[in-house]
Amino acid sequence: MTATVCPRSATILYLGLLASVGCDREAPRSLPGPEPEGCAAAADYDVEAMTADLAYLASPELDGRAPGSQGDGAARAFVAERFACLGLEPLGDGGGYPQAFSDFDGYETANVLAMIGGQGTGVSEESIVVSAHLDHFGGGWLGANDNASGVTALLAIAAALARSGQAPDRTVVLAVFGAEESGFEGAEHFVRNPPRALDIDRVVYNLNMDMVGSYAESGALYALGTFGNTPGRRAVADRARAHPSIEVALGDGSDQSDNAVFCADGVPYIFLWTEDGECYHERCDTSSRIDYASLAEIAALAGEVTLDLANSGDDLAGGVLPGTYNCF
Ligand SMILES: [Zn+2]
Repeated sequence: MTATVCPRSATILYLGLLASVGCDREAPRSLPGPEPEGCAAAADYDVEAMTADLAYLASPELDGRAPGSQGDGAARAFVAERFACLGLEPLGDGGGYPQAFSDFDGYETANVLAMIGGQGTGVSEESIVVSAHLDHFGGGWLGANDNASGVTALLAIAAALARSGQAPDRTVVLAVFGAEESGFEGAEHFVRNPPRALDIDRVVYNLNMDMVGSYAESGALYALGTFGNTPGRRAVADRARAHPSIEVALGDGSDQSDNAVFCADGVPYIFLWTEDGECYHERCDTSSRIDYASLAEIAALAGEVTLDLANSGDDLAGGVLPGTYNCF
């Protein structure tokens, strides 16, 4: 029975990574199970664990993750290893997590893609794409806020969803895109060359995170794309009440990140962003300036909104487009 309500946990448990949590947590047990290890050890949205992830992604060693660089490759491997550790289903090329492409300058890079299959009747083929771009400029520009912060938040959401042991009704895609800074190239590649296991025409929402680590300077979390009476606006407004330390600004739009690619294809979005007046696209965008406590709150809020959309009883596909949703 437990295996039928959340089959993903069977995979996770088989890997031996989450032995004390997951689907069978209610099963009688005479001895305490082994302590969770590695990626399963941290609590959901744990500030310390997220700080460590961001510190690595924005480290001088990775040198800003320019597409095709060694740092880009190391960062992609880090994301793929985490997805594997969490037992997430690969959605990249040939049964792996990376989806390779060459950027405009001819550098070989990749998106890193995973999914949690939906189990809801009639909506499991629909998907919510949670995205964050991995690349920055390199050459001393480390891009801690832009966008190691978004990738860190995405990894925290992936862990929380995997650890819950509950399959969402709609499929949740976790998309770490490459080559955003040069013009949303990874997101474009994903939409134009979708993974075979994904019905790209049934992507019903994009939740994109770019620069979510500068709340202290921003004073607000901007939830862009949450126009009118959209499901995204309702979900963000609803969940924000449980995060009183985060002031959420609703309603405006933006074409400044990967969400623009989805919206151009008719997919409504929520773009989470915090303003960084001083160090945006500057060398001072380093991990020492990140507001980690707020980053964890924002990630938790985003994870809750993701699940609300994935499990929504609303007709998201019949949705807010066309005609009634102005992308920007
Ligand atoms: Zn960015």
